[in-house]
Amino acid sequence: MSATKNTPGGAVLPSPERLVRDLSEMIAIASVNPFDAPASPGHREQEFADHYQKSLDDLGLETGRREVADGRPNIWGRLKGRGSGPTLMLAGHMDTVGVEGYDNPFDPVEADGRVYGRGACDMKAALACYLEVVRCLHGSGPELEGDLLIVGLCDEEHVMIGSSEFGRNGPTADFGIVGEPSELKLCPAHKGQLGVFFRTRGKAVHSSVPEKGVNAIEHMGEVIHAFATYNADLQQTADPHPLCGTGRFSMNVIRGGDIVSAVADFCEMEVDRRYLPGETVDQIVADYRARLDALSKKIPDFTFEISAPTLDVKPLDTPRDSVLVAAVKEAADQALGRPVEMAAFPGGTDAPNLKIPCVILGPGSLEQAHSLNEFVEIEQMVDATAIYLGAVQRLCNRT
Ligand SMILES: [Zn+2]
Repeated sequence: MSATKNTPGGAVLPSPERLVRDLSEMIAIASVNPFDAPASPGHREQEFADHYQKSLDDLGLETGRREVADGRPNIWGRLKGRGSGPTLMLAGHMDTVGVEGYDNPFDPVEADGRVYGRGACDMKAALACYLEVVRCLHGSGPELEGDLLIVGLCDEEHVMIGSSEFGRNGPTADFGIVGEPSELKLCPAHKGQLGVFFRTRGKAVHSSVPEKGVNAIEHMGEVIHAFATYNADLQQTADPHPLCGTGRFSMNVIRGGDIVSAVADFCEMEVDRRYLPGETVDQIVADYRARLDALSKKIPDFTFEISAPTLDVKPLDTPRDSVLVAAVKEAADQALGRPVEMAAFPGGTDAPNLKIPCVILGPGSLEQAHSLNEFVEIEQMVDATAIYLGAVQRLCNRT
């Protein structure tokens, strides 16, 4: 533990140098989510997990790991407390989005008070902060009453098999913080996300006599028309969520037909619905079905299907008056020297899958997260570490 910065009281403070070093090492290990392909070089959360688990081992934590899929582990490390307090989980995903078009994504660069590289803010920065939290705890006196559990998850950027598995099989905790890039805003809530396909089916005939067929693409055109005002309708709801606001809808993938000389007998469109805490998938599908049923009554030969969910990320809604939110707010207010901003996190996260009360708070911004110039501010990493440290001390020492 070199270059340790000490306070007059002897406590170890978060070190920008160590944070940059740890983050740079992590960026250099390519862990791009393989999406539907098998894990392969450059797409292995495995190598990243090996590195992160070793880092936790080296800090004296009791570590464990489980393969969720081939080459795709979840890992964790436990800093044991004295056994009389609650357990806090600091969790983060080890995968990143892709790098097509990104110049030197795995060569970390420190410049202008920032660290650049794929995964910098989403979310290897938070994983680096978690290591620094342990160093600060080691250097700062009495043991915690409860355990600190640090968790690295696979597959957040696709269908979240990592957190789903972890929520089922543990180890679990009493509270959780997920350090997704929130610009250090405290986010106790986010919307859910539901993806499904609408499918229309028609009758293929030679395109010299289209009137004898049923055109599935033209029918999908009617579907698009019927849903054209749906997003605006959702924003008119009388009962918005205090942090999440209103739901959203968009039509984002379409394909259909086969060759130009035949009437298309098939079309499918994948639609995205961001839904509020309190709404359910069943309600949303029923809402879709009602609009599509209305088309069946109006249009001859109109048939449709709604697929099973292609994506189903649950909403998060941790009570704003909970012990967890109060403790993290206190820690953040103190570390930032101003009242922390409370907000909904803009995207979906692993948090609901962990099945414990969770908040999202982390360094970096979601705006850079999936861009071709990803970075994190080093100062935000230092502040995030101080916030996590304050939260650990408050929550794990509750009796
Ligand atoms: Zn992320």
